[in-house]
Amino acid sequence: MTEPASSHFVFKPIIKGISIQGSEELFPVGKIYCVGRNYADHAKEMGGEVDKDQPFFFSKPPQAITQLSKIPFPTQTDELHHEVELVVLLKSKCSNIPPSQVSQHIFGYAVGVDLTKRDLQAIAKKAGKPWDLSKGFDNSAPISKAQKKEGILLDKGKISLKVNGQIKQSSNLSNMAWKVDELISWLSRFITLKPGDLIFTGTPAGVSKLNPGDQVEAEIEDIGSLSFQLIG
Ligand code: MG
Repeated sequence: MTEPASSHFVFKPIIKGISIQGSEELFPVGKIYCVGRNYADHAKEMGGEVDKDQPFFFSKPPQAITQLSKIPFPTQTDELHHEVELVVLLKSKCSNIPPSQVSQHIFGYAVGVDLTKRDLQAIAKKAGKPWDLSKGFDNSAPISKAQKKEGILLDKGKISLKVNGQIKQSSNLSNMAWKVDELISWLSRFITLKPGDLIFTGTPAGVSKLNPGDQVEAEIEDIGSLSFQLIG
């Protein structure tokens, strides 16, 4: 089956784009997968542990991505949390690949924040219901400019997040339980990954509550930084 020409759509498709450092081009956003519990210290602070047998994933819609410097404070929550994460950007299609083949599909990386309505997530967890409304709301995935690093597997580098100038999260990518190549290989066994797909690779300890007016700054060594304010 061929893809229809864009002139055949009943309205113009909305494609989110991520700006790229040193380029005028945009990275088109496809599917977004996020890993849960990938740093032991964060798994512990959430009352769980890293799943050593298999990683688990959830999704956010592409419209969750934002590069706004001022983000409206989300509605329907009394407990919004920050989770700083390394984001992997894919440039090519892959399915059922071993870890050794993952690097050839990597376009680059970015700094992301997995904004989470922790109160809604706790209710969903308790009821055994999906996390979508606590994780996939508007502007729930602020992201930095992309750093092009084709073919590079990133396995170390400082990762940190500050709120109003105070360090809240500080760790190293080397503390990830499931590495970038292992995560993407695993995911590719279940889903065909395509150019534009993003993988949020989990957060270290130190997640905390955000309030209207807070200024959030996130950084990953050699990748970049991200700064936004929540407007109440
Ligand atoms: Mg997360």
